[in-house]
Order: sequence, then structure tokens, then C-alpha cells
Amino acid sequence: MIKFLKFLVLSTLILSCAGPATQRLNIDSNALDAETKLQQTLALQKIKERYERLQRVGYPILKNSGDLCDNTVNSIGVMFNAYVDTDKYSEIEKEVYGIDEEGIKVTYVIPSSAAFKSGLRKNDEILKINNLEVSSDREKFHKGLEKFRNKSETLKVEFLRDGVSKSVSFDLDLICNYPILLVQNDSVNAFANGSQIGITTGMIRFAQRDEDLGLVIAHELGHNMMGHISKLRTNSLLGTIVDLAAAYYGVNTQGVFGQTGARMYSQEFEAEADYVGIYYLERAGYSTENVANFWREMAVEHPGSINQSHTSTHPATPERFLEINAAIKEIEEKKKSNQQLIPNTVAE
Ligand SMILES: [Zn+2]
Repeated sequence: MIKFLKFLVLSTLILSCAGPATQRLNIDSNALDAETKLQQTLALQKIKERYERLQRVGYPILKNSGDLCDNTVNSIGVMFNAYVDTDKYSEIEKEVYGIDEEGIKVTYVIPSSAAFKSGLRKNDEILKINNLEVSSDREKFHKGLEKFRNKSETLKVEFLRDGVSKSVSFDLDLICNYPILLVQNDSVNAFANGSQIGITTGMIRFAQRDEDLGLVIAHELGHNMMGHISKLRTNSLLGTIVDLAAAYYGVNTQGVFGQTGARMYSQEFEAEADYVGIYYLERAGYSTENVANFWREMAVEHPGSINQSHTSTHPATPERFLEINAAIKEIEEKKKSNQQLIPNTVAE
């Protein structure tokens, strides 16, 4: 009998461990559907917001160093809801990005673009661009824009705003042809692959000040512009690439990161990307006064980066802090004597 009781106590204990001890509240299935949809919508809106911040911060860097770039492209600086392959988008994506809306609307204008200066704004409904009439054929719209870009034609955009028709004219921006992509990954990281720049969501959260995010973008641009890419081995990159650049740069950016992965760089290349990056940042009009602090903050969050040896792949944070400040001092002196802001090359 005692044996049996023991067994009973034991089995009750096991049973009570196997599942929750308290009741589960009943939830309404309609409310569950609504909450699911709301959370998905909020998540997509956040992605859209972060993507637009990347473009807003990065565009002046790509634009103001266009003359130093071998690889340039004419950019409109405007995003439209002109998605071609609409079947591949979910209902929520269609809603958040306005994919199914009638006509072609401006969904974002980058503030440092010529289009923005001309007065074009979000929600303007495009009627005509030069001789290109807007129709339901969105592929035709993209091809038409591409032609204008290739010929670097001045654009005359006719549009409706609050029911009133208006028009603006502007020249395309000549920018470095390294599109900036958002990589859905929580690590604090950024990448360059020779043709693009990738910034993780973790980095976007970490680099809260625009000049800090700019510093990261300018650094990655440095890797691409200085041709660090072909010489080094690849390192696989996890994360979904978010690319909402419908009719923006005019280059198909989809998936290239996934195929080629990111690179690991040597210390010399890291130092060079830091050095030229400060020039690009300065040329874009960002305040560089406090950007070296970025590396102090990085050290606080990732103390392992403080004491790296001189032979590791990345320079240690104290070194980067001091090097960035030295570059800023060099630039300040050039500004004082009205010299061009071009990085110094190695003395022959
Ligand atoms: Zn780097």
C-alpha cells in the first residue's frame, strides 16, 4: 500500500510538471486574428521606417562623394508604389507599401535629393514624367524612367496634389552606385560586397544619431570605393535582405548579398575604410565632431573589442577612436587653408 501511495505521489508530481498548473484564459479568435494582423503591420511599418532612415542618412554620402567614385549612377531620389510583380507580396505588404493602390504615387522623397528641393513630396500622384504618360503598365513606367536615367535627362514631373495639378523640374543626382540595403539581423554589423552596402537592424538600433549611422555607411562605402573586395575571402551573412527600392536607384539589388556574402577585412583595410569614410561623412555635411565616440560606445557594449591584439582582423576600439580623431584634425586643417577634401594618398 505504501509503495502504491509513493507511486501515486510521484506520478502526480510528474503529471503536474508536464503542463501548466493554472487555467488558460479563453481568447476570442477574431481578436486573435486582428492582433496578429496589427503586429504584422507594425513590424512592416518599422522595416519601412528603418529603410527610409538608411536612405535619408546615406544618400548625401553617396551623392557628395560622387566625384570620387568610379562607379556612379543617375538617381531620381524618389520611391514610388510602382511594384511590378505584385503577386509575390502578402496582403499586409500590399497595404503598408500601397502596392495595390490605383495610379502611381510618390511613397518617399529623400530630403537631400534634387527632387525634394524641386518640391516633389510623398503622396503626390504622378501624371506624367517628360513624355512618359502614367498608365497601369508599371513595367513600362520603370523602363521609361530607366531611359531618362541613362540619358541623364532633366525630369519634368506633372502630378496631382490635393486634386490640384502641379509640375516641377529637376536634374537627376549623380551618386555613387552602391545601394544601401537593410539586413534583418540583430547583430550590430554592417557589410560591403563591392557593389552594395548592407546595414543590419541591430546596427540601426545601435547607431541612434544620424552621424553615427552615417559613419558606418561611409566606412562601408570606403571598402567598396577603395576596391578592398576582390582581395579577400567571403564570410557568410545571415539575414533577410529588405529591399524596397522600387524605381529608386534603378538597379536591381535583390538578393545579391545572399549570393555573395560579406567579407572579412584586414586591419589595414579597416583603417583605410575608417580614414576615407571620415572624408565622405564630412563632404556629406554631417557633423564629425563627436563621431569618434561611436567607438567608445561600441567598446562599452562589446568590451571584447577593447583589447584586441594588433594582429587580429579588426583594429581595436581605442585605436579606431584615435585614428578617427586624427583624420578629423587633418580635415579641419584642410578646411582652414581652403584645400579640397580628398583623402591623402600614400607618399611616393
Ligand atoms: Zn570594415
